[in-house]
Amino acid sequence: MNIQDLIRPNIKGLKPYSSARDEFKGVPKDMVFLDANENPFENGVNRYPDPQQRTVKSLLAEIKGISQEQILLGNGSDEVLDIIFRAFCEPNQDNIITLPPTYGMYSVLANINAIGIKTVRLDENFQPKVEAILNIADANSKVLFLCSPNNPTGNSFNSKAIERLVKEFKGIVVIDEAYIDFSNEESWINRLQDFSNLIVTQTLSKAYGMAGIRLGICYASKEITSVFNRIKPPYNVNELTQQRAIVQLEKNKETQQQVLQILKERDVLVDKLKEVDFVSEIYPTDANFVLAKVDDATKRYNQLIEKGIVVRNRTTQPGCENCLRFTVGTKTENDRLIKVLRELK
Ligand SMILES: *Cc1c(COP(=O)(O)O)cnc(C)c1O
Repeated sequence: MNIQDLIRPNIKGLKPYSSARDEFKGVPKDMVFLDANENPFENGVNRYPDPQQRTVKSLLAEIKGISQEQILLGNGSDEVLDIIFRAFCEPNQDNIITLPPTYGMYSVLANINAIGIKTVRLDENFQPKVEAILNIADANSKVLFLCSPNNPTGNSFNSKAIERLVKEFKGIVVIDEAYIDFSNEESWINRLQDFSNLIVTQTLSKAYGMAGIRLGICYASKEITSVFNRIKPPYNVNELTQQRAIVQLEKNKETQQQVLQILKERDVLVDKLKEVDFVSEIYPTDANFVLAKVDDATKRYNQLIEKGIVVRNRTTQPGCENCLRFTVGTKTENDRLIKVLRELK
């Protein structure tokens, strides 16, 4: 597939904006920087941040086993997804394909960017209907969003189905792996070299415990990341975010321990939810949350709020009627949830 043919014409012609600090990051410390009109008195944040976030990328590259040049960082996944839209989707002309029930941001961003949305419902096991997806695609279908493990259902998509879609869809396939670190499935990062139209997104917001710093990640071919680098605002990841990400990524062992603990707690939570009499179904999950069907989701949601527990009511999502989504908390938090659920009338 020729990726250049998918890029919007106005983007293809862009030159990357070269910021004052682009060229001289990572040079010896005794340089004098009089190029960016900063206040010279050091306070930790008086300088512009590294626009290429080299240190953060080098840590991620090591953890994920990928080249730094194949990484693009953004102000949360939302910015990364928005950059994907701006690179490939022509407003009032192109469309994307999403597979509900799924993460809401794909259609929000499509609407903001005046991009059409085609939807193909997941099947009864929350798996993609490959034929239907390929059939609904037209010449303006530029991006297909696959969320695996999927939010809010929690399951991973069948890897054969994903592979067929990546091979046969004639546009960009984005696999949103926000929850991959909770799953035993292999990341599609490892297949980037096989598919030029594949983009994998991840985030530091979930397993890595840094939702507050807003750091979203995109992995793709160098050809694609170089296009994205022309679009992104030069200082889109601020200095505090970079510093905090570095500290936390250097403690990756600790993160992996937390993930194991969360998974253990998730299994306990699932077992206990099974015993709650108004819970009728618990869906298989590869993520740090559990989707469960109850008798009356809105009633149970409101009762939980009254007891000081906030969960997510997904009842309006297609295929999720009367479903609540429970994030796995600490043991203490989960125990409190279960105690309250047992006492509800
Ligand atoms: C939480 C989540 C994200 C992460 O978004 P950030 O903007 O990086 O916090 C991305 N995709 C899905 C499916 C999610 O559930």
